Amino acid sequence: MITKTNAIILRIVDFSNTSQIITCLTKEYGKITLSAKGVHRYKTFNNGQYDLFNETEVLYYNKSQNSIHILKEITPLKLRAELKKNWRAAALASYFTDLISKVSLPYHHQEEVYEILDDSLEALNTKDKPNIKSLFMFELALMKALGFAPGLDSCLSCGKDLQKQQASNYFSARNGGIICKNCYTKQMQNPNDLYMRKDVENIMRFMQKTSNSNLKLSTNQEDEVQRFMHNFIHHHIELYEYIKSREIAIQLLKSL
Ligand SMILES: [Zn+2]
Repeated sequence: MITKTNAIILRIVDFSNTSQIITCLTKEYGKITLSAKGVHRYKTFNNGQYDLFNETEVLYYNKSQNSIHILKEITPLKLRAELKKNWRAAALASYFTDLISKVSLPYHHQEEVYEILDDSLEALNTKDKPNIKSLFMFELALMKALGFAPGLDSCLSCGKDLQKQQASNYFSARNGGIICKNCYTKQMQNPNDLYMRKDVENIMRFMQKTSNSNLKLSTNQEDEVQRFMHNFIHHHIELYEYIKSREIAIQLLKSL
């Protein structure tokens, strides 16, 4: 059976001089792996080369699930040429595709995840130096789409509305969000729970709810949000390895 779908390229590995293994996220079928045999042939009849971060339309011979399918045709729809030149944006795009590759399952329909990746890559496709906020917003949106959105509005223990409070609270990745100061002192404390300043709490809540990019973060606030998100992602997604691409992207974004 031949399947046709839109797909964003997450990874390309050379298999031989003329063959490649392409991992992509599809709109309808989750993560799939395609074998592109005779790579030069594809470049010729498509009148353009496919590459990482492209949104493409793929046609492939659909074998049984969980196997590598044979690519029949690939047509780039969004080339995202700036990501070839803007190396900071490319580092961020690499992290996005890496994380998506780690959390996506084959044949698992996740259109929302697809849209988040597509929109995030499209937003990076400019000459501008990307802001670290786009990394946080991507992570918050992805966590939400996967059903792991950190609870930031009310205390996870007593349910008190945190937006009306002035006091700083605690961020507990194992509990899935914020525990208010009162509940935290009553409960057994865990070394992985982190003290969260009120300003950082407000920033994270704001970023979770809006795509407004006018928000200005101080270096210190960026470091704090980065720490909470790191803690949260590693607690809720079964990552058996450290996400090196995240660290590289952050280092490059912070470099002059
Ligand atoms: Zn509470």
